[in-house]
Amino acid sequence: MSQADDRVLRFLKHVHRKCAKYGVALWLPDRKVFFLQNQKLRAYFENPTKDDPFGLLAVAFQSDFPEWLHHLVHEYAHFTQWTEQSPLWILDEVIFARYSRLARRKKRIPNEERALSLRCTRAIELDCEKRAVMLIKKWELPLDVGYYIQFANARAWCCSLQIENATKGRRHREIGISLSPSVLAQCPKEFLTSYDDIPDFFRAACGIS
Ligand SMILES: [Zn+2]
Repeated sequence: MSQADDRVLRFLKHVHRKCAKYGVALWLPDRKVFFLQNQKLRAYFENPTKDDPFGLLAVAFQSDFPEWLHHLVHEYAHFTQWTEQSPLWILDEVIFARYSRLARRKKRIPNEERALSLRCTRAIELDCEKRAVMLIKKWELPLDVGYYIQFANARAWCCSLQIENATKGRRHREIGISLSPSVLAQCPKEFLTSYDDIPDFFRAACGIS
């Protein structure tokens, strides 16, 4: 077993132990994706609730090596947001509950509510990505930190484009992260202080002017 494998194994044991401590099952099935609420996901985390006491941290294990580890670190970082009850996690729960109530009552969610919910998503995801980078460094995981941050920055800009669409009252459109390696290579390798200014190359890559 290589040193890198050894570190991954140590991290997996740590995640398993922490999950068990908080009543969350770690599920690493031999598959490529999950289908959850009409979404295709490679990994997800669901914390236990009063209604559903079974938490789950799931990662599709049937993908190339760095990919599942990337997703595992990301979802485990969400898990730490929940166990620490970080203010962003609590805010996200409040905003999500409010958004769900509105969605049940109204056919169309007001633009400002869509934008608020997306801002909250962007903030919680960025906090998660920063936690993930700290985990990669702490556990010396064989993941490229620079690439991880480029990917995180691209996701944040995708979210910024959705916020812009919502603010301008444009129809909701999913903006995917299937960006080419050349576009990702142009994304910064450091986290930014603001993601509201979206560079032209990124807009062009997403087909949005
Ligand atoms: Zn996430």
